[in-house]
This record gives sequence, C-alpha cells and structure tokens, in this order.
Amino acid sequence: MSSIVGLSLSELLEGLERKTISAREATRAYLDRIAALDPRLGCYLRVDERGALASAEAIDAGRLRGEAVGALGGVPVALKDIFVTEGLETTCASKILRGWIPPYQGTPARKLAEAGAVLLGKLNMDEFAMGSSGENSAFGPTRNPWDLSCVPGGSSSGSAAAVAASLCAAALGTDTGGSIRQPASFCGIVGLKPTYGRVSRYGVVAFASSLDQVGPMTRTVRDAALVLEAIAGHDPKDATSLALPVPRYRDAVGRGAAGLRVGVPAEYFVAGMDPVVEAAVRAALGVLEGLGATLVELSLPHTKYSLPTYYLVAPAEASSNLARFDGVRFGHRSEGVRDLGEMYERTRAEGFGPEVKRRIILGTYALREGYYDAYYGKALRVRRLIADDFARAFERCDVIACPTSPTTAFPLGARAGDPVEMYLADVLTLACNLAGLPGLSVPCGFSPSGLPIGLQLLGPALGEEVLLQAAGAYEAATDHSRRRPPLG
Ligand code: GLN
Repeated sequence: MSSIVGLSLSELLEGLERKTISAREATRAYLDRIAALDPRLGCYLRVDERGALASAEAIDAGRLRGEAVGALGGVPVALKDIFVTEGLETTCASKILRGWIPPYQGTPARKLAEAGAVLLGKLNMDEFAMGSSGENSAFGPTRNPWDLSCVPGGSSSGSAAAVAASLCAAALGTDTGGSIRQPASFCGIVGLKPTYGRVSRYGVVAFASSLDQVGPMTRTVRDAALVLEAIAGHDPKDATSLALPVPRYRDAVGRGAAGLRVGVPAEYFVAGMDPVVEAAVRAALGVLEGLGATLVELSLPHTKYSLPTYYLVAPAEASSNLARFDGVRFGHRSEGVRDLGEMYERTRAEGFGPEVKRRIILGTYALREGYYDAYYGKALRVRRLIADDFARAFERCDVIACPTSPTTAFPLGARAGDPVEMYLADVLTLACNLAGLPGLSVPCGFSPSGLPIGLQLLGPALGEEVLLQAAGAYEAATDHSRRRPPLG
C-alpha cells in the first residue's frame, strides 16, 4: 500500500497543509489503488478521474498562491450514489435512474467541494438505499475487503468498503435505519449518523423522509469529526435542516471518557446474538470503565417494536417518495408503449429491482384508505414510545453503548432469499432513526476469522460531541482502528 493511502484523512490533511504532499499526488495515489483493487471489490459505480485530477490541480495551485483552499483542501473523497452531483451520473444503483445526469448540485456534495475535498467518484449501494448487504444494487454487489466472500453490509456498501480498503480518504453515506453504522461495523471503520436535521438532505435522493440523514464514514473518529464539520449546518433548501451553529466537533475527540455515564440497555444484548460480538462489546464497556466512565444498566422497553415500526414507516414514505420515478423526468423510459398508463407501468416494472418493488407494495398497502390508522398511524404512536424510552434513559446517562449489529458480516447470498432474515440485520440500529437521535459505530474487535465488530454509541439529540468524545477515547485506548484489511 502506498504511504499516502495508508494515512488517515487527518494525517493526509497535515501533509497537504505542510505541502509535503500535493493534492494531485494524493488523488493519483487513490486513483491507482482504485484501478488495482476495485475490480475485485466493486465499491465504485463510476470514477471521475478527469474531474478529480482537475480539482486537485486547482487546489494545489490555490495553495501555492497562498489562498484559503478549505478545511478539507485536497482530500480525495467519494460519495454514495444517492448524492446528487451536478454533471456526474447519479443512479442510486437503480436501473430506473441509469443515465440521469443531474443538472444541479446537492448540498452535501457542494459543501464538500467548497471545503476543498476532491471527488473521486460515486459509490455502490443497495438500490435506493433499501437493503443491509449491498446485494440489492442493480449493478452487482460490493465485497467486504476483510473477506471477499462476505457482504460489506448496507445500504452504504460501497462507502464502507471503499473507506476500509483505502480507496478514498473518507466517504459520505446515508442512514435511514442503520445504513451508515451497520456497514461501518461490518467493514471495521467509523460511521456517524448525525441527529435528524443536522445535515441538509437537499440533493440526496429521498427514501423515508422522516428518517433519512447524511453522515461521514471514515477510518478514524477524528476524521469523522472533520467531515461532519464540513457538511453540517442549516440549509434554506432543506426545511428539516436545523438552524443551529456547527460546533468544532474535532475538539470533542480528545476529551477522554472520565466522568461519562455510559448507559447499557438490556434489550440490546438480544438472544441469538453472536457470542463473539457480545464478548467484544462487553470488553469495550470494560475499556470505557477503565478510562473513568461509569456504566449504568438501563432498559429501553419498546426496542422490540422498532423493527415492525420501521418496516411500516420506511416503506410507506418510500412508496410516496418513489412515485416520481415514472419515466417522465428522470432516467429510464420504456419504449414502444401504447399510452401514458402503460409507459408508467412498464418503466417502473423494468426499472425497479425486487426489493424496491416489495417496499412500494408494502408501503402503498399500509397507506390505503381505511388502513392508514391501523398501520401507519399506529406505527407513529409506537415511534413516540420508542423516543420516550430514550428521553428517560438520557436522564440517567450521557451516552448509550451497545453492539451495532448482532453478527459480523455474513457470506454473500446467505440472506438474499429471505427478506425478513435480511431485515433482522438492522434490529439494533433502527430505534435511533425512529427517535431522530445521533449514533456512531466504532471498531471494537475482530472475530476469530478476522471479521470486524462494531461498538454502537447512541446520544441524545444534538449529542454528536459526546459520541465523538466517547468513541475518540475508546479508539485511542485500543488499536482496532489501526488494523487494515489484508489486500496488499
Ligand atoms: N437496511 C435498512 C433498510 O433496508 C436500512 C436502510 C438505510 O438505512 N438506508 O431499509
């Protein structure tokens, strides 16, 4: 591995700022590694070599002239293909959007560019972010860099695998029910889902609008803090974005864990959980205690309803959001049809994959007249109870610690035939989204076969700093984040 791609984002940034590394050199190093390794991994749906080199050269020139080039000036990054990028095809890994070249720039992409980050390309994902393994991409699966026969998790599959394999210095993902944290856990990286509303979703293809949130996926906790600083903040183009100042998140990373009250929810250590995962997470709790934190046993009694609640709310909202993909304005349009109705029908039948169709059908059913109150309305009431559990818990603790996923990465194909089995991969990440809270996954160990395990930290609304503080202290006391997959 070339020395440049072996650096964390923060280390690379230091070299760029001291001018011992140029943005062009860093971009070239990542492009070369993508060319060498990505045919095996399937992280990228498209690489923008020309655009990346051109923006790297512009950053280098600006830096030589002494201009401010932004907080991430020259850092090569990549985006999940759900982020709208002006002039660069955006597909959500769906055939229905193939060929769509957005005429505008989404806010997360724009903010990264304004911070001087260099966009290497667009990353693979589960189609429309529906999935937990990356296998629902219409353009082929991504493989886990730690074991090519295993899935990287999903839906931000390409983002997690690319960061883990050093095919970019950082990536953005989206998290509606765990899609940043679960793949981060499966790939041994840091993934942070901010508070609902913390990051603008303008120019992020909507899945379930009351749950979707954008966040960083990085190799270290400090890197996640730097990226979050660059993308967070109010955006007049997203009515749900919070009009609050953005803290200097990096300052939280080195604060240590002394005095933190760490809640341990009984319901997150579920029967059927892989004992290797449980042992690693319990050991991590011990590390936090050793750093001066106090463990607080607590209960989140409505946790068991998260899965059914999420799988009503998310498909219901998806069925409405995805109505816009009908062949009229975006991407694929079926040819040789007799009338408009047939055009809609055939375009959608040809364009959407099986999981997306399943969600649209489930969601449409749940929203039908006469059923709304029994299903969607009830799910919203349960959602309130789940949020209330957390509100009570955070009266007694500063941060909650638990596993991110009940298992390590599973083999490709192992769950692909059974949707419910696949949905169970998210059982520990969904409540956080339903309550709108921030959550983070940080590497906390490896299985005997070398697959990563993630520690999940959950915080109160706008508690990103306490998550970064606890994760930063834990990371500094252990060496899991320094281990890299055996790819050469
Ligand atoms: N795996 C979950 C789903 O399939 C979560 C997806 C996400 O967070 N985007 O819906």
